[in-house]
Amino acid sequence: MRYSGLKVIKEALTGHKGWRPTWRDPEPKKSYDVVIIGGGGHGLATAYYLAKNHGLTNVAVIEKGWIGGGNVGRNTTIIRSNYLLDGNEPFYELSLKLWEGLEQDFNYNAMVSQRGILNLVHTDAQRDAARRRGNAMILNGSDAELLDTDGVREMYPFLNFNNARFPIKGGLLHRRGGTVRHDAVAWGYARGADLRGVDIIQNCEVTGFKIENGRCLGVETTKGFIGANKVASCVAGSSSRVMEKAGMRLPIESHVLQAFVSEGLKPVLDGVITFGAGHFYCSQSDKGGLVFGGDLDMYNSYAQRGNLPVVEDVMEGGMALIPALGRVRMLRSWGGIMDMSMDGSPFIDKTHIDGLYFNGGWCYGGFKATPASGWCYAHLLATDTPHKVATAYRLDRFRRGCMIDEKGQGAQPNLH
Ligand SMILES: Cc1cc2nc3c(=O)[nH]c(=O)nc-3n(C[C@H](O)[C@H](O)[C@H](O)COP(=O)(O)OP(=O)(O)OC[C@H]3O[C@@H](n4cnc5c(N)ncnc54)[C@H](O)[C@@H]3O)c2cc1C
Repeated sequence: MRYSGLKVIKEALTGHKGWRPTWRDPEPKKSYDVVIIGGGGHGLATAYYLAKNHGLTNVAVIEKGWIGGGNVGRNTTIIRSNYLLDGNEPFYELSLKLWEGLEQDFNYNAMVSQRGILNLVHTDAQRDAARRRGNAMILNGSDAELLDTDGVREMYPFLNFNNARFPIKGGLLHRRGGTVRHDAVAWGYARGADLRGVDIIQNCEVTGFKIENGRCLGVETTKGFIGANKVASCVAGSSSRVMEKAGMRLPIESHVLQAFVSEGLKPVLDGVITFGAGHFYCSQSDKGGLVFGGDLDMYNSYAQRGNLPVVEDVMEGGMALIPALGRVRMLRSWGGIMDMSMDGSPFIDKTHIDGLYFNGGWCYGGFKATPASGWCYAHLLATDTPHKVATAYRLDRFRRGCMIDEKGQGAQPNLH
């Protein structure tokens, strides 16, 4: 079903009886050209671009829960292209460009809002680092502006500029960054893939792989065996668990990350702000709630709920930056499982098993990557060669010593 203004008016006048489910609910076929494991943003985007860019439609997305129930519907919705390193920035810039045309492309309102992201700086050294990052962004075709204190004050006069410990000395403004309604992204890609013939199979868990003579022949699932020429894992926080079933041990750990939403307020914050002296960032959703994020809970877990010390830490960060937050009531919080790679950068690669491919290691930044991840993974699956902006995302990069150490914490963050 195509959506249009006329259709909305017609349905409004006729009791909304003509809407049909946005995607089908098919039983799995015996085999497919490509089976994608995981119906999160990345799995659905991969299916969409396989069909749209490469004409591959004999494809299934196998999801153990429901579409949008994983991290794609749990994140704080921020999109940006403000990375420092060459291995990353061209990829995230492609992603931002795809976000910019996405709603027209899949004919679905995902509420893409380029409201700007401001990374605050609180020391002279941080300003130098921000300047360097901004220059790297501009060299890679992105946008960046360095603001001084007055420039930040003009945008957000209610910030705590004179905090004795964390004075605000300026900020790096990335105007094309912003937010997108996260679950609409899952729905939009699901609808677009389904319209092109992709089977989206929910409530079906992949429980194992059939591997013979070094080749993957398909997946065992709770709905029986499904054969495939190519199997593409795309399960984010469950990556290590799923790939373990194929006998692979990944350079990935799973950690919990929490998000928080306040009661609804009148519009007070029209961009995204990140605190540079602690782990806190904030935006306002279109429903009015303030959306806060912070750091990982810092222990390995597959639970989708967090712990109290991080709640306290995030609220303290918020209060240090915006004292008026003390009047706001927090309504909700939840957690998601993050697939933290050892250098903070992702993987889009073939594995050593023929016909088995891997996409993961998105850490806490995979939402913004969704379009480019699907685009590049589909390219790899269709052509068996990496897309030019994803050539660095190889599984063997630690063995080769070619890390993309965006976090600057080395190959073993657990030892720091
Ligand atoms: C609190 C929080 C805040 C975040 N904020 C941001 C942000 O602001 N910006 C940003 O860029 N990123 C952010 N992220 C990260 C981002 O959400 C993730 O990196 C990204 O969503 C992961 O990709 P995905 O959408 O495909 O994952 P998911 O939606 O988790 O998809 C993976 C799917 O695989 C399924 N699956 C797992 N095992 C199996 C199996 N055996 N068989 C079948 N299916 C299986 C799961 O059920 C799940 O639906 C945040 C994450 C969290 C939790």
